Amino acid sequence: MAKHVYYFGGGEADGTADLRELLGGKGANLAEMSHLGIPVPAGFTISTEICTYFYDNDRQYPADLDEQIRQAMGQVEAVMDAGFGSPENPLLVSVRSGSRSSMPGMMDTILNLGLNDVTVQGLIAQSGDERFAYDSYRRFVQMYGDVVMGVRPTDDEDHEPFEALLERRKVRVGVTQDVDLGAAELKALVAEFKDEIKARTGADFPDDPREQLWGAIGAVFGSWHNERAAVYRKLNNIPDEWGTAVNVQAMVYGNMGNDCATGVAFSRDPATGEKRFYGEYLINAQGEDVVAGIRTPRPIEQLREEMPDAYDQLVRICDTLETHYKDMQDIEFTIQRHNLWMLQCRVGKRTGFSAITIAVDMVKEGLIDEKEALRRVEPDQLDQLLRPVFDVEEKRRAENEGRVLARGLNAGPGAAAGKVVFNANDAETWADRGDQVILVRIETSPEDIRGMDAATGILTARGGMTSHAALVARQMGKVCVAGCGELDIDYATRTMRVGDQVINEGDFISIDGSTGEVIAGAIPTIPSEVLQVLLQKSMSSGESEVYQRYESLMAWADRHRRLRVRTNADQPDQSATARVFGAEGIGLCRTEHMFFEEDRIDSVREMILADDEAGRRKALARLLPIQRSDFTGIFEVMDGYPVTIRTLDPPLHEFLPHDAEAIAQLAAQTGVPVERYHRKLEDLREANPMLGHRGCRLGIAFPEITEMQARAIFEAASDCLKRGIKAIPEIMIPLVGHLNELRLQADVVRDAARSVQEETGVEVDYQIGTMIELPRAALTAHEIAEEAEFFSFGTNDLTQTTFGLSRDDAKFIPDYLHAGIWPEDPFVSIDGSGVGELVKIGVERGRATRGGMKVGICGEHGGDPASVEFCHGVDLDYVSCSPYRVPIACLAAARAALSE
Ligand code: PEP
Ligand code: MG
Repeated sequence: MAKHVYYFGGGEADGTADLRELLGGKGANLAEMSHLGIPVPAGFTISTEICTYFYDNDRQYPADLDEQIRQAMGQVEAVMDAGFGSPENPLLVSVRSGSRSSMPGMMDTILNLGLNDVTVQGLIAQSGDERFAYDSYRRFVQMYGDVVMGVRPTDDEDHEPFEALLERRKVRVGVTQDVDLGAAELKALVAEFKDEIKARTGADFPDDPREQLWGAIGAVFGSWHNERAAVYRKLNNIPDEWGTAVNVQAMVYGNMGNDCATGVAFSRDPATGEKRFYGEYLINAQGEDVVAGIRTPRPIEQLREEMPDAYDQLVRICDTLETHYKDMQDIEFTIQRHNLWMLQCRVGKRTGFSAITIAVDMVKEGLIDEKEALRRVEPDQLDQLLRPVFDVEEKRRAENEGRVLARGLNAGPGAAAGKVVFNANDAETWADRGDQVILVRIETSPEDIRGMDAATGILTARGGMTSHAALVARQMGKVCVAGCGELDIDYATRTMRVGDQVINEGDFISIDGSTGEVIAGAIPTIPSEVLQVLLQKSMSSGESEVYQRYESLMAWADRHRRLRVRTNADQPDQSATARVFGAEGIGLCRTEHMFFEEDRIDSVREMILADDEAGRRKALARLLPIQRSDFTGIFEVMDGYPVTIRTLDPPLHEFLPHDAEAIAQLAAQTGVPVERYHRKLEDLREANPMLGHRGCRLGIAFPEITEMQARAIFEAASDCLKRGIKAIPEIMIPLVGHLNELRLQADVVRDAARSVQEETGVEVDYQIGTMIELPRAALTAHEIAEEAEFFSFGTNDLTQTTFGLSRDDAKFIPDYLHAGIWPEDPFVSIDGSGVGELVKIGVERGRATRGGMKVGICGEHGGDPASVEFCHGVDLDYVSCSPYRVPIACLAAARAALSE
């Protein structure tokens, strides 16, 4: 006979914690606690296999289930010393769901099952409290009526039927609180509830406890497929096939008087990770009262004074559980007449901050090893250590006051508050005079770079996770919320509207780049201790335990990862930031970002506007020394680490101003206000999808640009080498689609190298490689590798060109994600089966021609943990990401290595 029912209680159990798949998380842990001798109310778990059977067999059960339940119930009765359905001494049970992975509140629960007009007398006798007994009874009928018999509001206007009856009775009796209803009133309510059920369903409320039990079991299995559970599973990637177990367990009561209590507790602080017993409880209450927030629970320390014995026992149990499971525990308990019962234990959810503290501390305490610690911290959780965060209380207050205006994409994590400005110039001016500003733009362009740098945070109405704003903000370490479509920004009036709220220039807003929230008013922020130690040097490492934990975790990650981690940076200060975070070189220096600085944009524009090569060369000659000093600065910081410098990439129009077109004529004809056209046009406008005259196509049309850049690189490198600084330049040609393109550009670079060497007498060790950003480049990688000494996958462009999708304009990405067409935004997490396949092909074919060729990735995916894992899997040498993501990539790389 196959086993479907697993008993637990009284120090023994059929199951163990290892049977999670079969018993669900709750059932497995109840069994384990029972084995450990921890007091749990006895009960039994009906396995998840029955859930599967139930759905495969038209909601029927295997023939032998009834007998197995009878037997298990007999064991429960013996241990609890009560009888299921007994008139004198009734055993009451709870019936709850419990799946493999926790799905809080998504499925149904029934409490106090086993009550009827006869057994309620037994409960009165047991408890000596008639009011308590009838209150339990009316709660049971209410829950059962709702969950099992489906008595619910029929539409949005309808009241919750049982609550309506309860309210009516309170009015009739002249009281306002449930607790003021006496036993007689509650008894009358039970009858009314049953009548209501009969009236609404035509069925009688079942008085037979066994019938009640089967009804409840069916309802809990049935709730696996209710709508909210299905949505939750989808959001959390929980497979439908897992099914839920059903736990039937003896009731214990925290609401039988002032010698009773109920509460939740954690073995460590879930917010900070601090090693202290943490939790809250209520005297004379039921479990839901703690969660529902009707009464304010007391801090657990007070229990030490109110019920010292139970408190000590609770602390001991918590320690036992933590040592046993080797992880922070979240427990639910009930104290019935000074007797402590554990209702649940599970691994506690925690903040990123707390996850790191707990993982590192547990290694120090000898509970886990460093590999396990690395597995326990999600790479993205590191962000919470590296960014300013909002003061939790103040943020909560802002939420409660309804000050959250809108939500966009969480493009650059962290918290920022400041005054709103609507253009880059104002951002600079205001910041210069000491204001913290949030730069609000419909979208940003390279022209805005300096304003972005001056701002504390950046907010845009348009653009995805690799839009200009998002990408540059991350590289600069700025807080950024992008693509917040609810904002209606009007540059002319310097206002931003969200619904009927108007924010003017100079008003304070706060943006949460980790959640995407935009909030009215200034919320105070708390700086990152890690940054205070590493960057601002305003704290010493000895002063900051947070920093010390960060340092330990990163040292372990470095020990276990195979992938190297570089950074995308194009300024010496960004490079320096990346170095302190552990970057092992630069994987992408976008030289165009240097062209917008005040001292050079004029020369760049002059070069673009020149009619002939001579004119261009004249302008380029002025740029040469400036570029040289840019590269010198970077080589100095990266002393001994490779620096991959990309020759000019963006289409040249990006360096010119864009004046708005007048559409006044059309406006006059139709009578539609000009602003509406402007706004609509703005809305519909699609940016250049960047398939035009850019990348190596520029260098081929204007080789003198590449020549100037190569010369600047070699001159800077020679100068550094002379001074004992180890410059290792890697020149990277962008957007190559054909071997011949690379050949032509490589020739220009080599000529520059030769002539600089002749002039300086210094031999620079350099490599020439290419970005693989076009499907054709990936497919012909074996040809391109004849010339390229290294590859770097530009997965931003490769995603654009593989999907035929512009990274700046793909406004419909949220719709696609919502509809489940894509599991993830392909600009955030690499699309394994499409873009990823091209990466694999590129690596294989490239290395087939040039064995052991160095291959990296420098698209934004280089800082995304799932993509880093992918890169590890296809054997790249390194990932390159924005400076603040370097630690995240290091941890992701270590975890990828450990999961092999
Ligand atoms: C890329 O395309 O992935 C890349 C790194 O280049 P950019 O984002 O500058 O086009
Ligand atoms: Mg690119």
